[in-house]
Amino acid sequence: MDELYDHEVIELKWQEYWKKTKLFQVKEQPGKKKYYLLEMFPYPSGKIHIGHVRNYTIGDVVARYKRMCGFNVLHPMGWDAFGMPAENAAIANKTQPAVWTYNNIDSMRKELKRLGFSYDWEREIATCKPEYYKWEQWLFLKMYEKGMVYRKEALVNWCDTCQTVLANEQVEADMCWRCGEPVRQKKLLQWFFRITDYAGDLLLHCDKLPGWPDKVIAMQKNWIGKSAGTLIKFPIENMDADISVFTTRPDTVFGATFMCLAPEHPLVKKLSTGTLYEEKVNNFVERISRQDRSSRALENYEKEGVFTGVFCINPLSGNKMPVYTANFALMEYGTGAVMSVPAHDQRDFEFAKKYNLDIIVVVKPPDDTLDPASMTEAFTDEGVIVHSGRFNGMNNKEAIDKISEFIEEEGLGERTVNFRLRDWGISRQRYWGTPIPVVHCDKCGIVPVRNDDLPVLLPEDAALLEGGKSPLSGLDYYARTECPKCGSPDARRETDTMDTFVESSWYFERYCSPDYKDGIFNKNAVDYWMPVDQYIGGVEHAILHLLYSRYYTRILYDLGLVKYKEPFTNLLTQGMVCKETFSCPEHGFLFPEEVDEKSDKPVCKKCGKNIIVGRVEKMSKSKKNVIDPNFLLEKYGADTTRLFCLFAAPPERDLEWSEQGVEGGYRFLKRVWRIAFNTIDLIRDVVPFDGSISEIEGDFLDLYRKTHQTIKKVSNDIHDRFHFNTAISAVMELINKIYTINNLSDKVSENNLNSGVMKFTLESTALMLAPIVPHFAEELWESLGHEESILLTPWPLYKEEALVKDEILLVLQVNGKLRSRLNISRNTDEAAIKEIALSDERVQKFINGKPVKKVIVIKNKLVNIVV
Ligand SMILES: [Zn+2]
Ligand SMILES: [Zn+2]
Ligand SMILES: [Zn+2]
Repeated sequence: MDELYDHEVIELKWQEYWKKTKLFQVKEQPGKKKYYLLEMFPYPSGKIHIGHVRNYTIGDVVARYKRMCGFNVLHPMGWDAFGMPAENAAIANKTQPAVWTYNNIDSMRKELKRLGFSYDWEREIATCKPEYYKWEQWLFLKMYEKGMVYRKEALVNWCDTCQTVLANEQVEADMCWRCGEPVRQKKLLQWFFRITDYAGDLLLHCDKLPGWPDKVIAMQKNWIGKSAGTLIKFPIENMDADISVFTTRPDTVFGATFMCLAPEHPLVKKLSTGTLYEEKVNNFVERISRQDRSSRALENYEKEGVFTGVFCINPLSGNKMPVYTANFALMEYGTGAVMSVPAHDQRDFEFAKKYNLDIIVVVKPPDDTLDPASMTEAFTDEGVIVHSGRFNGMNNKEAIDKISEFIEEEGLGERTVNFRLRDWGISRQRYWGTPIPVVHCDKCGIVPVRNDDLPVLLPEDAALLEGGKSPLSGLDYYARTECPKCGSPDARRETDTMDTFVESSWYFERYCSPDYKDGIFNKNAVDYWMPVDQYIGGVEHAILHLLYSRYYTRILYDLGLVKYKEPFTNLLTQGMVCKETFSCPEHGFLFPEEVDEKSDKPVCKKCGKNIIVGRVEKMSKSKKNVIDPNFLLEKYGADTTRLFCLFAAPPERDLEWSEQGVEGGYRFLKRVWRIAFNTIDLIRDVVPFDGSISEIEGDFLDLYRKTHQTIKKVSNDIHDRFHFNTAISAVMELINKIYTINNLSDKVSENNLNSGVMKFTLESTALMLAPIVPHFAEELWESLGHEESILLTPWPLYKEEALVKDEILLVLQVNGKLRSRLNISRNTDEAAIKEIALSDERVQKFINGKPVKKVIVIKNKLVNIVV
């Protein structure tokens, strides 16, 4: 062991060793308990950022810990490699997305390897490779065959800048999540997955995921959005048709005075055509289609609409209701039609006031009346039903059931459940994605590609077009093909590609047998490894990715390919990495290395002006408050970087960057190193102490106890809660304890029992640190005289008897009555106990100057003073 801790030498040495011994390569071992640890795989953007480092470090600690606990641990890594950034970067750098992507993968793989993560690199996958997406195409065709996929013309969120469709979830605050430009509506033929068929089951199982954070479950439930209500038919006047409305408030049907249809509702055009209102309606619909139609945006809009020229009939009151089309009605909620009850809905109230429409009160406060003429806002509280025929006088909550029953009996509608979840539109008008494996033929229509012809290869050398438009439809050699059914040479391939969320919905299964050629995966391997025992990733994926993965697993289940419905048993969503921002009045945001922090007041290195230190927030390139992990690796090494990420905060909380924190971690490792260096020659050949605690004494009894207490605490903190920060603190305390022993080397060398305890303590320290700072721990372990990797040694166990506290609680009585308690050291001798007891303040008070007749001492229990 060298005197100085040289992180670089040690880390490269052990990384080489792990590679050479294939320590992290695993295979199925029936009979051995498996543990599948997975971190969400990265998009190959080019560089690992500190958020990745944190995520993967958390996973790596758990993987290594579980390995030491005897599990067969699967811990793979790969690349979520399709997607738009590759296209944008390729345009900017005049290269091809494939070239850009594969280069990025190469450099990021190097960075991950330098961090010493325990991945089975033999299982690496990249979703842009044909051997991966071939099986995605295969599954698409299976789903098509079973009717789980369909194509329809649909209004989609369209980004002009990115020239593509966006899922609702990809519209953030009314803007495109990629480029930040406004989103508009466009009608296109699109492929959809019938995820809504699974809405009920996905919701039901939300309550069967005890290993998931509550907040994620709540987000999933909310996204699926189940509501119970009633579907009611409103006949259209002078027409043999009706408008279906879903409502959760059947108690207010008598108060519905007008109808609002979403501008996209098919009836809007049908009803207005040929009326005086046709042109006005068309203009309105056209204008609204250019607006952002996300629900969030609607909150802020002025509510507006136009009359379509027709009326419908309120089936309960018999009143005529004018039919409007209005901007606040959304096609994606309910049926796209809203029965408007202005007296009891604020939005409807405002609309009615604006267009001078009837307001009828049907729920009134219990001790008051309501006059529509004088109302200034809708009445939305609980109350008593009025103006509703036979239901008058009922509590309105009760009336919900009663009126629904009546509606069903009269055949006017039915009770039903409505979900907020919509089918998953997977078509993307992009190039860098999985080709959708169908052919369009003039004679045969849509024809699936033959299984034997899979994969439909994406041409990797296509030149991207200006503005990012997909080149696929213009590539004759790709787009023109023979019809698989009639052989016509003029058929055309589908040139849309799949949403990249499809690839990330099943990659965890592919990891189980990444090279498998005879199917989507080897069923035996999947049966053994799946489901994932612990999944770790950012909370930003709490809705989309997790919901799609859960859905896709159900598809695999229904196709008989897997035996489980839920892919992830336990989920951890780690917090963000945050740092304060720096900005210069002249140069705007500055990177940390552009700031001179040496003087009292930090200044801009470019212009010397004082910088403004902003608030601590999530690290982001745009705010430049980022730390390059490579800087940490060079200066401190992988182990210190890992230690910092783990020590600064529990995994689920946000972590605040601090260089002092990193320094602190580095100092701690050097402290452990020094203690080991000073004693290791004295203990290398000694057997770790394993005897009875009665054999040892003094500092080494204390140290032995402290070591067992530390093992207990660290095991619990890692096992139960993944609270690595408190686990690390405990090891730090243990090291501090060693430093309190005066003349340590002398005491170790003069006594065999002492050296045995020291060996036990240092070995335990190395074992406890092994998942956290693996290179450091391997080096320490080797220096302690071991020839095999520390990971092959079982996790240390604590002994109950050694945990017993050294202190006991002594009860003090005066004349047999409890008067005081105090903590004393176990086995204090009788004379000393008497002295301590008699000098106790409370005891003194009860003796009250009287002569003491007798002092009875029951060792380690109580003292009774008789006066
Ligand atoms: Zn965009
Ligand atoms: Zn054909
Ligand atoms: Zn400046």
